[in-house]
Amino acid sequence: MSQPEMRYFSTRGGSETLSFEDAVLTGLAPNGGLYIPTHIPELPSDWQTKWSNLSFPELSFEILSLFIPQSNISENDLKQIINTSYSTFRHEKTTPLRQTGEKEFVLELWHGPTWAFKDVALQFLGELFRFFLERRNSQLEKDGKEEREELTVVGATSGDTGSAAIYGLRSKPSVTIFILYPDGRISPIQEAQMATVEDENVYCVAVQDSDFDTCQSIVKTLFSDKEFNSKHRLGAINSINWARILAQIVYYFSAYFQLPKEARESGDIQFSVPTGNFGDILAGWFAKKLGLPMKHLVVATNENDILERFFRTGKYESEEVPQTQKGQSNETALVNGSSDGQQASSAVKSTHSPAMDILLSSNFERLLYFLALDTLDSPSGNQEQDRSKAQEKLNGWMTELKKNGKVDLGEKIKQAAGNDFWSERVSDQQTLEEIRKYYKLEKYGPYVVDPHTAVGLAATERSQKRSPNSYWVTLSTAHPAKFSSAVELALNSKQFPEFNFRDTVLPEELKKLEQLEKRVHKVKGEQGVRDLIEKVKKGEKVVPGEGKGSI
Ligand SMILES: *Cc1c(COP(=O)(O)O)cnc(C)c1O
Repeated sequence: MSQPEMRYFSTRGGSETLSFEDAVLTGLAPNGGLYIPTHIPELPSDWQTKWSNLSFPELSFEILSLFIPQSNISENDLKQIINTSYSTFRHEKTTPLRQTGEKEFVLELWHGPTWAFKDVALQFLGELFRFFLERRNSQLEKDGKEEREELTVVGATSGDTGSAAIYGLRSKPSVTIFILYPDGRISPIQEAQMATVEDENVYCVAVQDSDFDTCQSIVKTLFSDKEFNSKHRLGAINSINWARILAQIVYYFSAYFQLPKEARESGDIQFSVPTGNFGDILAGWFAKKLGLPMKHLVVATNENDILERFFRTGKYESEEVPQTQKGQSNETALVNGSSDGQQASSAVKSTHSPAMDILLSSNFERLLYFLALDTLDSPSGNQEQDRSKAQEKLNGWMTELKKNGKVDLGEKIKQAAGNDFWSERVSDQQTLEEIRKYYKLEKYGPYVVDPHTAVGLAATERSQKRSPNSYWVTLSTAHPAKFSSAVELALNSKQFPEFNFRDTVLPEELKKLEQLEKRVHKVKGEQGVRDLIEKVKKGEKVVPGEGKGSI
């Protein structure tokens, strides 16, 4: 079976295509677009039998090699990259499926080092960076050149993404990582997860007297400072990096193979995905395009519901939220650094599922491109011509969105999207109720779920009314210990006197963090961050403040 070699191009135009390596190292295309594959590859005709007993890394190899040509990464190298990436997961199945009802299942994606689903992608992305930089640098050495390629990753976090990025990049040669967060404003467990990492290339930077928006705007300023950026070759652990989407396709297949035989034979499987920046669920859409049998993907949002409103109305518009409601904003976009439509001044609602608190969904653009392509008025059948027509349409939408903060995509697009997606919005109150409900689950419980997973479960329950006979897989994106405040609010001591968070939910591994030294660099403002990066990159010694703290 011969397929054309896979390349990548920008959603926003230009006929140029990139190799997998360049698409990964570039992250965001210079014209502001996102990289997507030139075609959807074909699965081997016997994949359902051939892949059914593979381990997660083996399955990952089969799927990833459809998108990564051997001319870019050899078979052996790719196997090694994948094996190393998933060796850090605690569960033998990597992403195990747990039954929670007769026809209901939860896919636990949080058995990686930081107990949240972003590990699946960031462990892999970190290994890819290591591999590409090592290969480039050994070539430079062979050629007798003095210079070496290095990457300085700078990101801001309000807690969750920062630790996954740090665990993805710790100890990687030629990579230094600085994670900024507001001093004293992230949860102790999240600070401990980041600041107890001992590797030399990791810098946790607590910005004094700041909030999350300030940290994010410092990162943006550094990225847009051309001189600083090129001097240090700033890198983003972008939530829009293609490699992250790619790595996530695998667990949809893994879930499929873990389902009971009768579920697979029914051909009636649905997925529900707690959604923020649309990365996780987009991977599911690619799985569907590849041919994984599933009927719909349910977009489960919290009260930041721009996506839910789009799937219902065809209008993609950020809500006007009064400035006073402005809460701690989104961190899913922030390890981005580079901006892709998120405006620092815009308002995001602060909810119990903070990793989904978004204004605009950066990865949504990738779906929009394919929707534009699939609904062309007069497709020519010529791949290049149709591609450029779709890019043109997308560009029009993105321009309008940027100008007016909203765009009406119309009935045709809405219907096309509805073939693959359903959507549900889940309020904070419903999120807490869902956590209580699963704690009280009888036959398959008790099961303590995190607030993001609870949003997905509530969406599943509502969607069941539309399709009562389906089998349901809800993606669980974090361990409940990561979001203790919502869990403790739901399972409060008044209603649940027997519930003890520390004893029943907090894993030993996380308790141990209390004993470890924290290495935090406290700095003041943008200048403090610049000075720290300059010093570190010059090889000067910087000494972190240390201390222990209880979680
Ligand atoms: C990032 C994140 C999400 C949202 O995933 P997207 O790919 O941005 O849609 C959901 N839950 C948790 C716990 C997360 O960290």
